[in-house]
Formats: sequence, structure tokens, C-alpha cells
Amino acid sequence: STRPRVYNFGAGPAALPLDVLEKAQREFLNYENTGMSVMEISHRSKTFEILLNNTKQDLKTLLQVPDNYKILFMQGGGCTQFSAIVYNLLEVKKQQLPEGEEFNPPLDYFITGSWSAKAADEAKRLYNNVNVVIDVKKSNGNFGSIPPKEEWKLSGSKAAFVYYCDNETINGVEFPFIPDIDPSVPLVCDMSSNILSRKFDVSKFGVIYAGAQKNIGPAGVTIVIVRDDLLVKPKSINDQDKGVPVTPTMLNYKIFADNNSLYNTPPMFSIYISGLVFEWLLNQIGGVGAMEEINKQKCTKVYDLIDKSKIYRSLVDKPVRSRMNAPFRIVPEKLEKEFLAGAEELKMVQLKGHRSVGGIRISMYNSVTLEAIDFLINYMIEFEKKHTN
Ligand code: PLP
Repeated sequence: STRPRVYNFGAGPAALPLDVLEKAQREFLNYENTGMSVMEISHRSKTFEILLNNTKQDLKTLLQVPDNYKILFMQGGGCTQFSAIVYNLLEVKKQQLPEGEEFNPPLDYFITGSWSAKAADEAKRLYNNVNVVIDVKKSNGNFGSIPPKEEWKLSGSKAAFVYYCDNETINGVEFPFIPDIDPSVPLVCDMSSNILSRKFDVSKFGVIYAGAQKNIGPAGVTIVIVRDDLLVKPKSINDQDKGVPVTPTMLNYKIFADNNSLYNTPPMFSIYISGLVFEWLLNQIGGVGAMEEINKQKCTKVYDLIDKSKIYRSLVDKPVRSRMNAPFRIVPEKLEKEFLAGAEELKMVQLKGHRSVGGIRISMYNSVTLEAIDFLINYMIEFEKKHTN
């Protein structure tokens, strides 16, 4: 199948590969000859165990996840991980602390866009020592850049972790590098909107997480990749814990790791579709490296057009422009409505920018084809011609 029903440039939930949807449709009523849909079988059955383990193995292959990392399937989306990382990694740090020493390690946050800002806000709600490494909006008035290392205020080895969001979905800011930090401190990364879009070195991280609904599958499952040494048993509250939160069972990484993500009923259908997406990436695309090349072509086409244009304007510094989400404004702004309506007419949907920043946003996750981007670019060129002379 070539021309999809629509060209979907949504930021999330996002388009899924058509091949995946068609396979799911074929298997919908009768998964693996069980006579049941995949969402009707027991999560304790052999059939589901095989599905789960294959899915995990395929992700491990795609990202070359080292053996000392666990892949977890959790729930609650990216936002739940904003809390989970605080609980788990404070617990880790606490258990490393010499007896009797006061416990108040800083948590280091890079704030480069709306999502990392939200994560830092949640950390501040739960704990009283959050250190802002950089807050780009505070220093520059808006998100759209990543200041050089000299301006970072890291806490060094004292920190319980360093946090950043690799790709800011709303603001279109993506790290072109992995931040260089004290190697004894776990690096935590939100990759919700760019995981599997390019190769990266998992071994640089303590925890990586991603909500599924952009580059992975349907909302409902959250992938967590966590290094072995950061798996600690959750304790119940005791006298020494004053001011330090205790991890809820359902947020504890070790519980999920020890139970192969089957501590309770997992979001089976979301895991199943995610597995089909992993298969598609491996077998049809040729892995993350091949995907990265396609993604590079897609965003290069989009940004080249914007940079040459007299009416489209990117507000993001070139080196940190996201390969996944390209937000831009049209000058004059009153043309934006017409742009969106015209796109809809041609069955190009979900191009409206996030309500907090306005404008247009082209999301070009893995399942968005070069063909779709070419179609959109053609429209953008025609639209500009119509409005300039
Ligand atoms: N982090 C990033 C980078 C996101 O783009 C999003 C959602 O759009 C979230 C976190 C929040 O994810 P969820 O809606 O799954 O909680």
C-alpha cells in the first residue's frame, strides 16, 4: 500500500506504519491461532510471554542495549516517569550514603523546553533540592537554543541524577550531543519523541524512558531502559526517611525488572503493536541506522525550505533543531489558518502547532514517509507562491 488514508503529521499520538496496522488487522480476531484477540488472552499465558520476550529482544537489538540494562514496559506515560525517576534514584542514592550522614543530594535538571520544565516542576513538588543546570526560557526569553557547556551549573558527583529531555516535542529543540557529566552520576533521559529515530550509545545512560505514542506504538505503554545497578528494592517508610519520598510499588523499577514487567496486568495491546513496529523497523527499514538516514533526509528537506522561504520562519537555532518536530510560524501569522485549512483539504492532518506556542508543527516520526514529506513540501512551495509576488 502506498498512499495512506491521510498524511498524518501529528506530534502524538502519531501515525503508525501502514504495514503494522494491516498486520494487526489480519491478526485482530485470531492471534497466533489462539482463536482470541491478543487483548483477550491471559497476560500469564505462554503466548503472551513469547510476545513480550520477542518484543524486548527486538528492542534490545534495535538499540544495541547492553546486557547490564533491563527493558521495562510500564504505564502512565512519560509524565509518570517524571515522578518515577525521582523516587527510584533517590532510593539508590540513599542506599549508597554512609550511615548517619545527612541526606539531601541535588537533582540536576536541564530545562530546554516545555517537557523538561514540567519534569523539573514535578521533581520540585516531590523533593526539596532540585538544581536547575540551565533554564533556557529564563535566560533567553524563549526556548529554542541549548547554551554551551560553560553556562551549565551542574552539581558534580553530589547529584542523585542529571536529567534532560533529548527532544522537546513542543519547542522543536533536540540535543545534538549527549551532555558530558560526572560519570559517577546516572544520566536520565526523556526520549519520548525521538527514541529509535537515530543511533545512540545506551551505555552513557542510567535511565532512558519513552512514552510509546510517537515513535513506538499506541499510548498506554512506556518503555524504560534502566541500568542494573539502579534497581533497588523499595522500602516502606521509616523514621530516617523524613523529607525523602518512598517509592510506590507500581513505580519501582526493580519490581518491574524482577517480574519481567508482569507484576500486574500490562497494557498488552500497546505492547503487541509496539512489537510489530519493532519488527517493521528491523525487517522492512533495516534498523535504526537506516531509519536515521531517512529521517535526516526528511528534516533536511523541511528546514532547507523554511530557510529559503520568505514567509516560513523557524524560531530554533540551527544546531539544535529537532529532526522529529519542526515548529514554525508563517509571516504574517494570519496566513496560518489558511495554511492549515488548505493542508486538510489535501488530507494532510494534525499540522497545528501546540496551543502553548501556536503556529505550525510538522512532526516527522519514523512512520512518516519521504513521500509524505515531499507532498507537504510541494504544498508549502505552492502556498508561498500564492502569497508572495
Ligand atoms: N515527554 C515528551 C518529550 C513528550 O513529548 C510527552 C508527550 O507529548 C511527554 C513527555 C508526556 O508523555 P505522556 O503524555 O505519555 O505522559
